[in-house]
Amino acid sequence: MPITATEASRLSRRTGMAESDFCSKDELGIRRLLNSQSTKACVFLATESDLPTAPGICSVYDSRPLGCKTYPSVLNDEDIAILDDEICPHTDEFDEPDEEVALRLLNLEAKLKQ
Ligand code: SF4
Repeated sequence: MPITATEASRLSRRTGMAESDFCSKDELGIRRLLNSQSTKACVFLATESDLPTAPGICSVYDSRPLGCKTYPSVLNDEDIAILDDEICPHTDEFDEPDEEVALRLLNLEAKLKQ
């Protein structure tokens, strides 16, 4: 999950963790949440198993990044918001994203490199 510098700072303050303990930064400067080695899921997902169907809960839910709030809505190559039915097995439980979601995701995308 890509996150902004502001979101990384907020998560660091909230958890007391160093940014390098929960996110990576690629050559373009984009930060992404890391996965736990043991659960293969986001480091903030409290779960006991590495099975994709295992129960789990976000341990930073009230501080979760915007991309988490809007998921499984994502932008396609034409910057249109769509449901990510390739990775998320629950897309049929969500409404099709509207223009407002697309604008929020475009705004997020613009902030990722800052
Ligand atoms: S909602 Fe929480 S557990 Fe899920 S990817 Fe976002 S921060 Fe991680």
